[in-house]
Amino acid sequence: MPRKRPISLFRSVRFRIAALNTLVVAIAATAALLGLRQALHWTLLHEVDRVLQEDVAEVTLVVTELSPEGLDAIADELARKASGHRQHKWFARLLDGQGGEVWSSQAAGSTPPAPDTSDAQPRSIGDERTLRAPAPSNPLGIASVQLGSSLAFLNSDLEQIDRLVAVAVLLMLIISPLCGYWLAGIATRDLEAMTAKASLLRPAKLDERLPYRGVDDEFDRLADTINRLLDRIAEFIEERRSFLADAAHELRTPIAAIRSSVEVALDKDRSEQGYRDLLEQVLDESESLEVLVNQLLLLSEAPVSLEKSPLERVALSAAATRSVEMFAGVAESRHIRLDSSIGPGIVVLGIRRHLSQVITNLLDNAIKYTPEGGRVTLSLTSSNTSARLKVTDNGVGISPEDQRRVFERFFRADRARQRDDTRGTGLGLSICQSIVAAHGGEIGCQSRLGHGSDFTVVLPLTIPTVDDAANG
Ligand code: ADP
Repeated sequence: MPRKRPISLFRSVRFRIAALNTLVVAIAATAALLGLRQALHWTLLHEVDRVLQEDVAEVTLVVTELSPEGLDAIADELARKASGHRQHKWFARLLDGQGGEVWSSQAAGSTPPAPDTSDAQPRSIGDERTLRAPAPSNPLGIASVQLGSSLAFLNSDLEQIDRLVAVAVLLMLIISPLCGYWLAGIATRDLEAMTAKASLLRPAKLDERLPYRGVDDEFDRLADTINRLLDRIAEFIEERRSFLADAAHELRTPIAAIRSSVEVALDKDRSEQGYRDLLEQVLDESESLEVLVNQLLLLSEAPVSLEKSPLERVALSAAATRSVEMFAGVAESRHIRLDSSIGPGIVVLGIRRHLSQVITNLLDNAIKYTPEGGRVTLSLTSSNTSARLKVTDNGVGISPEDQRRVFERFFRADRARQRDDTRGTGLGLSICQSIVAAHGGEIGCQSRLGHGSDFTVVLPLTIPTVDDAANG
């Protein structure tokens, strides 16, 4: 038995689940954290803008109200406001019609005047947020006001958040493969148990089955499928075994007869006629042996060969006519009337050699088990979907209990009712059944002891072509 190689870590399902889990968690977590950071950025910026909008409204009001008192009054008021927001570097700038500076608060130093836009929307210039809006007409010629404040606090908050996001993603990249590996271990534990159990199964010990826990999950389904496969394999092996045992048993009889004839011949000196008689017995038994071996071969190949051989269109009508012609001589020699009623152009898909064998076996049996003066009839008809072949005789018939067994291998009904020359192998009908089943058809038997038997074969039909009709 080959030694079981351990699965390398990178090929294991457990590793692949853990790796996929890590990838999915990393992508999802990074996307979620970056989304959160962006949302926070927008919220904070929106808040800064809202404050700037409010301040602009307030400053334009100051300009309107204090401009009659002169620029100093406005400057005082705005300087006071600026000192209240010193930590955010809040500034105000008053501009004339050409964009020239009329006045500005101290913190406005480095910031250039914002472009004159009609939408009065806040803009980022460097790390400052600024907003320029038109001022109502006033005696000081102030055309617009520009306000601004530093975004340094917002940027430093975001930098802090970026650091937290990086740490969180890093932690997730460490924790998620470990968790994934652990969870995948739990999920595949049953699979490993199943593999361990399956590795103990042996062809000679096919009564073992994989454990079924009754929860109907994927593992139970797999166990159930494998168990059913094992059932079928066990059945198949048992079938083959009993076939082999039966075949060996049946082969023993003619071999023993040949051996005993040869032993008798060697026992003492005999006349030429004595040797001739014994050799004839050997020939007889060898012929039986040959028939038996041929039938065994046919029986073993029938279901398989249909799958392997290319299917042909078999003109059943022609095959039935040929078989009836073939048996006409035998029937006549036994004073049996052989009739037929064969519908034309009936075609099925299958193997011609095998289907002819079925017809031959049924006719052979009917003639074999019908006494002199009896009658055998073969009829072949068709419906829309199937062909029906029926072989009827008024021979010895089969008892109800034997009817159930006639298709079993090596079954021969009560020998007392059979003539000596009807010694058969008991394989003919099981060969028929195996061939018919392989062609997707059915075979059945109806009989009354002492009155005769009907054997009926139903096969799926193929639509005949012009050639088939000509042959049939
Ligand atoms: P055999 O080689 O013995 O004929 P078969 O499988 O063809 O083997 O038939 C099995 C048994 O069924 C036969 O031994 C016989 O007893 C019975 N049987 C088959 N066909 C007929 C029939 N037409 N009439 C009566 N008995 C039959």
